[in-house]
Amino acid sequence: MKKPPQIPQAITRRQFLNNSVIGLGALGFGALTFSNLAAAKKKDGKKLGIALVGLGNYSRGQLGPALLETQDCYLAAIVTGTKSKEKIWQEKYNIPDKNVYNYDNFDDIANNDDVDIIYVVLPNSMHAEYSIRAAKAGKHVISEKPMAVSVAECQQVIDACKKHNVKLGIGYRLHHDPFNLEMMRLGQHQVYGQVKNVQADFCFKMNDRTQWRADKKFSGGGPLMDIGIYCIQGAIYTLGELPISVSARDTTIDKAAWKTVEGSLEWTFKFKSGAVVHSKSSYEQDYYGKLVATADKGEFGLGPAYVYGNLKGYTPEGEMNFTAVNQQAQHMDAFANNVLHNTETLAPGEMGLRDMFIIEKIYQSIEQGGKELSLAGIPNILHKV
Ligand code: NAD
Repeated sequence: MKKPPQIPQAITRRQFLNNSVIGLGALGFGALTFSNLAAAKKKDGKKLGIALVGLGNYSRGQLGPALLETQDCYLAAIVTGTKSKEKIWQEKYNIPDKNVYNYDNFDDIANNDDVDIIYVVLPNSMHAEYSIRAAKAGKHVISEKPMAVSVAECQQVIDACKKHNVKLGIGYRLHHDPFNLEMMRLGQHQVYGQVKNVQADFCFKMNDRTQWRADKKFSGGGPLMDIGIYCIQGAIYTLGELPISVSARDTTIDKAAWKTVEGSLEWTFKFKSGAVVHSKSSYEQDYYGKLVATADKGEFGLGPAYVYGNLKGYTPEGEMNFTAVNQQAQHMDAFANNVLHNTETLAPGEMGLRDMFIIEKIYQSIEQGGKELSLAGIPNILHKV
């Protein structure tokens, strides 16, 4: 058995963001009117129009540029509260004045036939409100992760999308990444035997604690909501199984610095198969992200695991060798196709709710001094490959 190559442990947050390289989802219910409309548009040779709500780092650095590469959708409209961004985006993406919205006239987007899909890229606590308003406007919805900041809110979003017959997908781009898809294949198909342990960690050092991510009112929580959620996802899709219990610890180093959210935490999942997952997530450590599975016949893993590009992976047989894709472009094209063909997304609202169910239990376990809590009642949704 070959020795696994060394996983680079520390890259900076900037490198993480810059790791973007060149650059699939919706519920099976309803959406007939809109799907028919969308199908008709595509038959005319037109792409589906996406409106980005919130033109922050992720929209500017990843989603906007990815929408120049997508085949089945394009950036039709923007929603921003910052006047100075309007012209820059309009010029770069050829957006007419009539397709520029702010947070006051957002609901008028209902009358804009150029927009088929609304993609909510706001601070976490605003996801539910804007997803629900998007659904009410009769537009299909993609919500960034975390889908909302509570299970109750996730349910409200799901209900609104059902009521208004629109599709709902979560921005879990790694379901379209070849390295992460390989983790699913290797784990779920037991290519190296049964997976016994997974270590899934995601950390970076957040120096600017004035940003919304450090304020529970906007973020809903600390690194768990922001980046730990990738570890939850990674563990579950590698095993292809839902956890049955969780225990968690707040491991914040500088308690005084983190006033409303945790600075660091760790948790353990147990699975019916006997598998155990250990995870760490932190805003207080140098950047690293890994997803490593130990199976009966050896170890396979990714590191960096959750970045936009430049992922690295290994199996007992050597390095993984995949051509990077533009995860965001793949994700949005897949969602557009779900709309066009009325098919199911790989990461629907129910998956966003599932992860919030787990997140709430993790925080409850911390409050109860690390008690192991049952995950009975977890929504039964998995991406099986
Ligand atoms: P950001 O802070 O760079 O952008 C947030 C945007 O929201 C800004 O344009 C800001 O002006 C706007 N906004 C509107 N109302 C606001 C308010 N009241 N307070 C603060 N900002 C307000 O954040 P980001 O990094 O672009 O993250 C946005 C969302 O995207 C988050 O939910 C995050 O989790 C998610 N995200 C996902 C990925 C991914 O890989 N899927 C990557 C980065 C971010």
